[in-house]
Amino acid sequence: MIKRIEHLGIAVENIQDSIQIYETLLGTNCYKQEVVESEGVRTAFLQVGESKIELLEATNPDSAIAKFLEKNRTGFHHVAFEVDNIDQELERLRGEGFNLIHQSPKDGADNKRIAFLHPKSTVGMLVELCQEKQS
Ligand code: ZN
Repeated sequence: MIKRIEHLGIAVENIQDSIQIYETLLGTNCYKQEVVESEGVRTAFLQVGESKIELLEATNPDSAIAKFLEKNRTGFHHVAFEVDNIDQELERLRGEGFNLIHQSPKDGADNKRIAFLHPKSTVGMLVELCQEKQS
C-alpha cells in the first residue's frame, strides 16, 4: 500500500549553496547529509511537515543526476512514495505493467530501501518507492 509522499527530490549543481537556500526558504535546518556511493550522489534532507525535501548533487559525471542535469535544468527530479511493503508493491506494479528501473529494492539514503519506476510508464514522472529499513 502506498502511504504518503515521503519526499520530493530536487537535482542541484551545488548542494551546499542549495542547502542554505532551502534552509532559509523552509525555516528549518538540514538534518542529514549522506553520500550514496552506488548512485554517485550526495544527498541532503530537510523536513517539511510530514514530508521531506531531498537535494541531490552528482559526485561523478556518470551518475544519474549528472546525466539528468546534462539534459535538464536544476530542479524537480522525482517524487518518492512511502510504502508499507516495497517487495509487495514492486510485484503489484510489475503485474500492472509498469516499467521498473530497479527489479528489486536496493539501499538508498536516509535508512530506506528504494526502487524507481521509469518515467515512460508514469506519464513522465520519475517515481521512487521507499520503505524505512527495519532495525
Ligand atoms: Zn529520493
